[in-house]
Amino acid sequence: MTESLLPPGVAIDLSNCEREPIHIPGHVQAHGVLLALQPTTLEILQASANTVAFLGREVASLLGRPISEMLAADALALLQAAGHDPNLEDNPLHLFTGPVAGHGPFDAVVHSRQGLLVLELEPSIGRAAGRPDMYEILKRGVARFQAAKSVNDFCQLVTDEVRRVAGYDRVMIYRFADDWSGHVIAESMAPGLGLESYLDLHYPASDIPAQARALFLRNTVRMLPDTAYAPALMVPQENPLTLQPLDMSCTFLRGASRMYTDYLINMGVRASLTLAISQGDRLWGLVACHHMSPRAVPYEVRSACEVLSQVVSLQIGDKKLHDQSAYRERIEATQRSLTARLVSGGPLSDALTRGAPNLADLIDCGGAALVEGGACHLVGQTPPESTVLKLASWLGLKGLDAPFATHALPSLLETKDASGTAVGLLAVPLSRTGNDWLLWFRPEHAHVVHWGGDPNKPVEVLSDRLTPRRSFALWQQEVRGLSKPWTELEVAGVSHLRVAILEFVLHRSGEIERLNADLARSNTELDSFAFVASHDLKEPLRGIFNYAHFILEDSDATLDAEGRARLQTIVRLSKRMQELIDSLLLFSRLGKTVLEKSSIDLDELVTETIELVLPRARESEPLISIPRRLPRVLADRSSLIEVFTNLISNALKYNDKVDKRVAVGFWQTGEPGFPLEAEGAARCFFVEDNGIGIAEDHHEEVFRIFKRLHAQGEFGGGTGAGLTIVKKIVERHGGRVGLRSREREGSTFWFTLGEEKP
Ligand code: ADP
Repeated sequence: MTESLLPPGVAIDLSNCEREPIHIPGHVQAHGVLLALQPTTLEILQASANTVAFLGREVASLLGRPISEMLAADALALLQAAGHDPNLEDNPLHLFTGPVAGHGPFDAVVHSRQGLLVLELEPSIGRAAGRPDMYEILKRGVARFQAAKSVNDFCQLVTDEVRRVAGYDRVMIYRFADDWSGHVIAESMAPGLGLESYLDLHYPASDIPAQARALFLRNTVRMLPDTAYAPALMVPQENPLTLQPLDMSCTFLRGASRMYTDYLINMGVRASLTLAISQGDRLWGLVACHHMSPRAVPYEVRSACEVLSQVVSLQIGDKKLHDQSAYRERIEATQRSLTARLVSGGPLSDALTRGAPNLADLIDCGGAALVEGGACHLVGQTPPESTVLKLASWLGLKGLDAPFATHALPSLLETKDASGTAVGLLAVPLSRTGNDWLLWFRPEHAHVVHWGGDPNKPVEVLSDRLTPRRSFALWQQEVRGLSKPWTELEVAGVSHLRVAILEFVLHRSGEIERLNADLARSNTELDSFAFVASHDLKEPLRGIFNYAHFILEDSDATLDAEGRARLQTIVRLSKRMQELIDSLLLFSRLGKTVLEKSSIDLDELVTETIELVLPRARESEPLISIPRRLPRVLADRSSLIEVFTNLISNALKYNDKVDKRVAVGFWQTGEPGFPLEAEGAARCFFVEDNGIGIAEDHHEEVFRIFKRLHAQGEFGGGTGAGLTIVKKIVERHGGRVGLRSREREGSTFWFTLGEEKP
């Protein structure tokens, strides 16, 4: 009468099956009697309507009577003790095998629920000769299961063993997919019955609705001895103590949903036994036993089956691990190689996408990509760069902090085109900003799924009620637009790689920070040292100079020519040392002063500098030109004057041409002449001369402090600190400095000021 559970007027559709309250069916199956007792007085509050057949007494004569009247003393004592046992809550216990009300013997099983004692009596099939020893059966089963290597072998063994123990015509293992559809992965059938195989068939999720799956987790063995049983209604329907229908979640006699019995009948099945296999708190699959004629197995056998199904539940995880061990090892080995390459230096993109193994070797995929800082590095079969970058920004909008996996990417995007390389996508974010990603792609995996009946029509409407489909004939479905799904192992593998990369990147940025801090500290120390040393050296030096000078002036008469020449050398050398110390002082001050940047009209600044630098009276005035008006820049004014003073005076100084020419100018980024090394800067300034030029070998050396390419007397002398100071100033502005030169033809010194390309 389960169909009456739907209130009148409720539309009939599949969701009704999901809503059917199958734990309170209001009736029990025909193979036993159910009594709901008051827990202390043991008064019978409710009984199934089939008491006459089993106990020889009408329901009406039992209600309100204590069950003690019908039990032997020892059985009663057990029941009374059970009434006080807290472990009995939802947890059925086999109490005794013995007579009740002079009938039987019965297997009596009791549990408590809703504050009631629920007693189930099932005629006991005595321990007849030939009935197998359950302990032996279990021992043998468990030993065989342990030997199985793969999940498939294991499941096959389980079906054989369960069929041997429970004796059904067909035993199969039905495994749930993520969407709760089922797949028959192992089957054992009695020979000679001409049964058709269900192996590899799929069944829609609605065949075993959610509430039925939930009950399987609580009550792992479910027997239906006869699908065509006559239901025995509970009397009264509402329990007088709870004022509710009896919750039969934990009973073995629970009446079945009409949908379910019809389903089995349509399959040609007359009796069933189902065992649940779970993984943690999730139902993994079912061992489904079908018999073509009515069949009941004794309580003892069902208990053995229950233990077997628990052993299966415990072992399935192990077998799964074993199945994946080779793949797991490959993933781990690739991950180790990639991490080792990361650590050995070089950019992340080289370590992950160049050579072998690379990202695409980590897991089975068509290709992979690293998106980092707006750049895209591809390996293997992937969509084009522009598409990958778009995908990365699409993922970025999701604000993910964990892997994202789909085997139906086109259905999530507007394109819906599943012909490409990216039908499956597994992505892990590398940064919180959502800009950096590791991506793996899979192409479409077109395949055929065999369904047991049309999965789109799992039920039919029959007159006024819903009934399961009547045809279970093979129904082939061609699956398109999907890739192979990503497994837990693969998702875990990419997550581990992500952690390794993040740790490495963090470590590297920490190291760079440390090095920078060290460098800054030693620079400051050096600056202070140079400052203190040069400052303190000036004093004794002045003494040496003065005393040498005094001797020269005061003792001129007593000195011979050689003595005078030596003293003159002391004076000259100390003057020179004075100059060197002054340069050093200037240089060390540069590192200590704070840059005061302001907007400067460079044209004006250079014109003023030229005036300062140009010697006043000269016969052949050198031509210093500014070919085009110089722009405004943001810089420290006095530093910039220092830069141009040094560069322009060098351009004049190291020039042996009669017709000296110097040009001060700039290039915008992209203009011809813009130096490659200045890449990234908005503008590059230069001072060009037609002087003596500098040999290529010395291009770097000239920037070293006190490095001069000429003898002291040549080209007007100098300390060799000018270009070092220029370099320091430019670098403090965040710019670069360099030169281009041809010997005897001239030099072009260029610098940038840290203004970035727009
Ligand atoms: P200084 O001019 O005091 O010697 P610098 O640091 O300014 O020191 O220059 C270092 C050396 O680089 C100079 O001694 C000179 O040999 C060379 N040099 C600098 N500017 C030019 C130039 N425009 N043309 C040729 N050589 C140059």
